Amino acid sequence: MLETILNFLYPPKCPGCRASVKHNGQWCEDCLNRILQPWQLPLDDAIGKIFDGGVMSFCDYEDPVKKLIADAKFEKKKHAVKALQFFVEKGMEKLDLKDIDIVVPVPLHKSKIKQRGFNQSVLFFEDALKNSGLEIWEVLRRVHETRPQFGLKFAERKKNIKGAFAVADKKHRRLVKGKRVLLVDDIFTTGATFAECGKVLRDAGAKQIFGLVIASGHK
Ligand SMILES: [Zn+2]
Repeated sequence: MLETILNFLYPPKCPGCRASVKHNGQWCEDCLNRILQPWQLPLDDAIGKIFDGGVMSFCDYEDPVKKLIADAKFEKKKHAVKALQFFVEKGMEKLDLKDIDIVVPVPLHKSKIKQRGFNQSVLFFEDALKNSGLEIWEVLRRVHETRPQFGLKFAERKKNIKGAFAVADKKHRRLVKGKRVLLVDDIFTTGATFAECGKVLRDAGAKQIFGLVIASGHK
């Protein structure tokens, strides 16, 4: 009922081209086909060794996805969250996930969670993963706060993020051991965060590590 009223007041539009669509958050077929094109990121040796299952991105880090991520994360705009959840759900349908045992989000520091109210990786991926029969396990935690990675070069990012993550506790350590783990996040920039999380997962005994992000400009 509420959706009917809202749809009447604010007719749902495709986030890519503003064409009318049925549901809030839905993308038109044309935009989905054009923008949603999962690809394997090229990885340097150090990261490639950790992510032996590869790292995929659903699309390039450009608008409209770039803006949707910013709107969802920093402005908490509901329509942007819905558009990304829809996008991720359609993206997951294109992937072969049979080799994945557990899904782990890149964690935020608890002060960040408090400030933002959510971890974007969990928010964007959770429903789509459930539909794929996979669960998100918040295995990692952020041990100390880091200054924003934005504007830093890879070497600086690496230094900034070093030692920032750990496995939450013994129970989670047992959970990772011998498992094929998919690490998820919203964006992959230089890979410094992924490398650091991956290292911790590997140390905890993960058998194989995959990565997946919504968007990346890492070519
Ligand atoms: Zn469209």
